[in-house]
Amino acid sequence: MGKNGLLIVISGPSGAGKGTICKSWLEKHPEAVLSISVTTRPPRPNERDGVNYFFKSREEFERMIAENDFLEYAEVYGNYYGTPRRFVQSQLLSGKDVILEIDIQGALKVKERFEEGVFIFIIPPTMEELRRRIVKRGTEDPETILKRFRSAYEELNFIKRYNYVVVNDKVEEAVKKIEAIIIAEKCRVDRNKELHLILQGGAQHDLSNIEFTDEKSGQ
Ligand code: 5GP
Repeated sequence: MGKNGLLIVISGPSGAGKGTICKSWLEKHPEAVLSISVTTRPPRPNERDGVNYFFKSREEFERMIAENDFLEYAEVYGNYYGTPRRFVQSQLLSGKDVILEIDIQGALKVKERFEEGVFIFIIPPTMEELRRRIVKRGTEDPETILKRFRSAYEELNFIKRYNYVVVNDKVEEAVKKIEAIIIAEKCRVDRNKELHLILQGGAQHDLSNIEFTDEKSGQ
């Protein structure tokens, strides 16, 4: 049986740049997949159903909750957001790495059910920069901007529940750090289930006849 993929959870306050980082990382790693979330938030002008999100009514979302369709879901700024469970599970089983770009409540729920995931917290270089990014996005009304900024402060307290923190100063640098994290995670002994086969193979050899020479002296 092949190896399962890695579940990579990218999370952090809104405006930290999770979306940009994920997009850039996925361009470099087309072998991985992004889980497209379901939301009750109305689409923004540039967003398309099935591409950015699956846009659903509250009733449809609640029916999906009742049918256990979500790996996790959360209410964020008055709207529901959820990760489709079956899609994520089937991709992981087929050996693909799956990336989730979700809020902090959602990430912590995934961690409870899926401890072996890799949990990465993205933070902006400064809080002032975070405020600037939220305002610059310009897609939200002033009240929502303020709500997002306030909760960003509170959310920073959850960093310690994550495995890694990446400061998003320059996107390319942040992407490089995520690549390094993933490579290191894949080398972890506890993720390498076939390691015991290699080691068992080694133990079957009779090492007593092998002559060890000192490479430097040649003796
Ligand atoms: P936005 O409305 O700006 O697209 O997203 C608002 C927040 O919801 C962001 O922090 C985003 O990461 C988060 N989010 C997106 N999809 C999901 C999801 O499936 N589950 C959870 N818990 N949060 C999500």
